[in-house]
Amino acid sequence: MKKWSLKAKLTVLYTFFMTLLTCVSLAILFSLSNQEILTSVQSDLREQVHKGMDEIEAEEGSLDVDSDFMDLEKGIYLSLYSEDGAFLYGRLPYGYENQETLSDGILQTTQGSSGKWYVYDLKCWLEGYGNLYIRGVTSVTAAENSIRITLRMALIILPLLVVFTGILGYRFTRRTLMPVRRITETVQRIRRDEDLSRRVGLGKGNDEIYQLSETFDQMLEQLEESFGREKQFTSDVSHELRTPVTVILTQCDAILDQEELSPQQRTQIGLIRKKAQDMAQMISHLLLLSRADQGRQQLAKERLDLSELTEMVVQEQQLLAEKKGIQVLAKIEPQIYASVDESFYIRMLVNLISNGISYNRPGGWVRVRMTQTETEVQGSVEDNGIGISPEALPRIWERFYRADASRTDSSHSGLGLSMVKWIVNAHGGSIRAESSVGKGSRFLFVLPKEKNENL
Ligand code: ADP
Repeated sequence: MKKWSLKAKLTVLYTFFMTLLTCVSLAILFSLSNQEILTSVQSDLREQVHKGMDEIEAEEGSLDVDSDFMDLEKGIYLSLYSEDGAFLYGRLPYGYENQETLSDGILQTTQGSSGKWYVYDLKCWLEGYGNLYIRGVTSVTAAENSIRITLRMALIILPLLVVFTGILGYRFTRRTLMPVRRITETVQRIRRDEDLSRRVGLGKGNDEIYQLSETFDQMLEQLEESFGREKQFTSDVSHELRTPVTVILTQCDAILDQEELSPQQRTQIGLIRKKAQDMAQMISHLLLLSRADQGRQQLAKERLDLSELTEMVVQEQQLLAEKKGIQVLAKIEPQIYASVDESFYIRMLVNLISNGISYNRPGGWVRVRMTQTETEVQGSVEDNGIGISPEALPRIWERFYRADASRTDSSHSGLGLSMVKWIVNAHGGSIRAESSVGKGSRFLFVLPKEKNENL
């Protein structure tokens, strides 16, 4: 039942109850009308026998019976018998065997080979003749047959009624539940596009579903507002922090230029400078992401030789990696041209390579590969470092997520890969990661070659 839709469940439920109710009412109705019909047949029989008495007279020992006696009223046959049981006059139905003994005022039910009969005898005394019996006979089978025909008709109509109710009910439920489908689709679209500006928009209505939809829209309105405020806050804070951090950096540089500094003072100022630099980088990542969230981050795309650009970045990173005893290798197909934003492309690559260096061990390597097809550029940054656990792998793209914060210093904020993902997606490409703990990781990205005008 869990796999069934609400529509199907409701349809089955009321069709079942409807059928049950109809069957029970029909059964009650038939048994009552069956009894009613039989009772009325019996009373008709008695009445006709009594009426039959008025049609008989006797004159000088012989019977004079009115012709009305032979008329068949309400399917009742009348016949006359002498006191000792000899047939005198009247009609008997075809197939009736007439074997019952005469018994005054008692209704007998007999089952013959051709059906079931009600037999009613009445003893009467006729002046000028003496005692005689009037017998009334009527068929029970005929009465029961008419009930049976009605029952058969009901059995044909009932399934049709059930099917009709089912179809009608299904259509009605579907119409009633349509707004629920709209709500589900809206939620799915919000999840897929991460777009809180969507609304169910069912309009005004008095039923519970309309009220639910209106409440839902109001909640979305509030959520959108509060998310908007949060994005604005992040953007404002980053802006405000940018100036003091730049001042700290320039002041550090100015102090470090002074020759009279003692070695200890130089180390201390150097440390402050390093931290300020990390902060500046984090602020720049945050600014980019908050602008991207607000849809304000623009790309300045131009057609570039990515092979050359990538080679240059690799060489730069090689110098930094050497200090840690790590090699950065490159295998890049020449003359790969694509439309990209140069500074964002460099930021993306630097992030991936510097991660490969940071999460590595002395003697390790980072390998950058790049090839092209007719329509896209395929690149990868691979290392043989510490790797990422399967639990952490899906989460590395989240903001501020660091798989093992204790292993890294403050220069790692956990924002790098979120930014990388945004850059790749904003170029109309895609990126994914593969990793195995202790063996290394590989980040594979694909970028379209042509400039996508929509971005
Ligand atoms: P961070 O500033 O911490 O490097 P990132 O967003 O760049 O932030 O990466 C998120 C987390 O993913 C890192 O903290 C690290 O645990 C993991 N990670 C990223 N790249 C690699 C890699 N090449 N090897 C192992 N772990 C990595």
